This record gives sequence, C-alpha cells and structure tokens, in this order.
Amino acid sequence: MEADVERILYSRAQIDERVKELAAQVVGVYREKDLTVVVVLSGAFMFAADLVRHLAQHVEVVFVRATSYGDGTAPQHAPKIDVFDPIDWSGRDVLIVEDIVDTGHTLSALIGVVTAGGARSVRACAFLEKTSRRAADVEVEFAGFQLEGDEFVVGYGLDLAGRYRNLPYVGVLRAGRIPD
Ligand code: 5GP
Repeated sequence: MEADVERILYSRAQIDERVKELAAQVVGVYREKDLTVVVVLSGAFMFAADLVRHLAQHVEVVFVRATSYGDGTAPQHAPKIDVFDPIDWSGRDVLIVEDIVDTGHTLSALIGVVTAGGARSVRACAFLEKTSRRAADVEVEFAGFQLEGDEFVVGYGLDLAGRYRNLPYVGVLRAGRIPD
C-alpha cells in the first residue's frame, strides 16, 4: 500500500500537532457548552476520533453519510445525506466534522439539514480545505490544512475506491494509481 504513495503532504506528527491546535480553537469558541459533533462518514472517522479526544466539554457524537462520490475522483451527483440514529437537532450547538471540503456541496447540504432541524448554532470543522473548486457559499470556521491545488489526496481516513484510509499520514498517489 505505502508503495503507491508518491509524496507525503502531512506527516503523522504534523497532523497530531494540528489536530490539537484545532481542538483548542474549538474549546476556545464553545467553552464549556455541550456540543453535538456530526461525523461525516466515512472519510472523517479518523480525524473526528482524534479531535474529540482533545475536547474538554460534554460531546454527543452523531454519524452521517453524505454520498456524492463514486469510485473515481470527481463528484458524480448531488450529495444525499443519511443520518444514522436521527436526533432532534433543536437547541443544539452543532459542529460538523468533515475530512475535506472541496466544492462545499456536501457541507452546504449538511448545514441545511441541521439548520432545518432547529439547531441553535452550526459550525464546520474540516481536516482539509480545497479552495480552488469551491462552488457553494459555506464557511469552514475550523480548518486543519489548506490545499491550494486540486490534487487528489488519500490517507488519514481519506480513500480512493475504499482504499488507503488506514494510512496514518496524508499523501498523493503515484500516477497510474488514480483512475480517470
Ligand atoms: P465537496 O462536496 O466539498 O465537493 O466534497 C467533499 C467530499 O469529497 C469529501 O468529504 C471527500 O469525501 C471527497 N473528496 C474531495 N476531494 C478529495 C480528495 O482529494 N481525496 C479524497 N480521498 N476525497 C476527496
């Protein structure tokens, strides 16, 4: 698996440090308030697991799935949101935790669901942000790293056709490993 990686963008140590900083920012904003953390599966599972461990307040974790990508590297249809164990969003302070915000369509759809449910506040935390292809008008209040280009990255939860999620770092694959 590791032989497929051409270049490491963010090492495990860099990620650990940045996740701690992000968690400190989150705590700084919410203070002692209870928080509902929405984990966008599957890509955000590793990031969310690391992030919530550094949060000091009471946290409820809700899992959702946003389906917008097939096995390739480009969006294939508008995101569909499934909430596992649906909850009443009303009056909650909600933090959406995403692996990567690219066009922003997924985040926009999620914010719509949570807002329509009556949440008191909704903010977004993304491990990575790709700004070059942003199409939806969404704000990522807590962002781990900014990717300037539109390279397809894998690792630390991010996959290609179900693979590479277990890499402990974020990297770019060798040419030939990415399908058209
Ligand atoms: P958006 O709706 O913001 O365009 O898409 C966000 C989703 O696209 C992410 O949650 C992620 O699953 C997928 N995505 C976007 N860019 C990449 C990438 O470089 N690598 C991987 N593995 N997934 C990506």
